[in-house]
Amino acid sequence: MQPHGAAGPLVAALDIGGTKIAGALVDAEGRLLVRALRPTPPRADGGTVMAAVAEVLAELRAAPGWPGAVAVGIGSAGPVDATHGTVSPVNVPGWRDFPLVPRVREAVGGLPVVLAGDGVAMTAAEHWQGAARGYDNALCMVVSTGVGGGLVLGGHLLPGPTGNAGHIGHISVDLDGDPCPCGSRGCVERIASGPNIARRALDAGWRPPAGTEPTAAAVAASARGGDAVATASFDRAAQALAAGIAATATLVEINVAVIGGGVSAAGPLLFDPLRRHLTQYATLSFAAGVEVVPAKLGTDAGLVGAAAVAAQGLGLFPLGV
Ligand SMILES: [Zn+2]
Repeated sequence: MQPHGAAGPLVAALDIGGTKIAGALVDAEGRLLVRALRPTPPRADGGTVMAAVAEVLAELRAAPGWPGAVAVGIGSAGPVDATHGTVSPVNVPGWRDFPLVPRVREAVGGLPVVLAGDGVAMTAAEHWQGAARGYDNALCMVVSTGVGGGLVLGGHLLPGPTGNAGHIGHISVDLDGDPCPCGSRGCVERIASGPNIARRALDAGWRPPAGTEPTAAAVAASARGGDAVATASFDRAAQALAAGIAATATLVEINVAVIGGGVSAAGPLLFDPLRRHLTQYATLSFAAGVEVVPAKLGTDAGLVGAAAVAAQGLGLFPLGV
């Protein structure tokens, strides 16, 4: 029996990151009906992390709505390998080629399980319910501790064979730039992520106010107060994001770039220079004029998106507007 007011079949959604494992039952209108949450066990072996996932699933299975659940959708920190059903999240060291999909399938009595990277899941969410709704061609990005993303093309989510397509954080926009932990150089993430915004400001002489951690949010506060070094660090991040968006627009023709994640909370400090730089890089007629807008769904994007990924992958219910 479904909870009162639930629309259509339900999807059990999992949003797995380095700090938390969130779960929810999501209905065909994108509403989160039941939630469960566990911290991701830090520095734990694979089995211990999986036990936390199993606890989240057990809580969902105990909910009255569970019999309405027809599938599980997972959005996981990456890299993921949707082809083999494995994950190797950089920030979950206990999981390397961990067989997450078969383990989850066992834990839910054999329901179909669909896996995607967290950037792809966020994109699915913003396209279904958020700022990319109504757009057939969109790039959605999360700018936070890292920079991730995903693509909607021709009206459909494009996860790619392994569930990582659109990972704009690791395209190079600075050919001889700083080495990136991924092994490349000058990646968008190496320039535009929150920790890199703070690092660049610190290197240039900025100091956070007494008693404040040197975060991107602290850099943003200083920039709002007129600090030129802080402002310049955001400008450089915006420039890298603009170059990445322009490359994407030129490659596959997008109409909108949606930006979420903690760094996007800086608002005009990020978006104003980003739009300005974009006019410098996206110059051809078909690439110019891409709209840049903030994401709408916030922290629920991972769960809503995991459900959307399963719904599209299995054809469970329509996601269109
Ligand atoms: Zn990289």
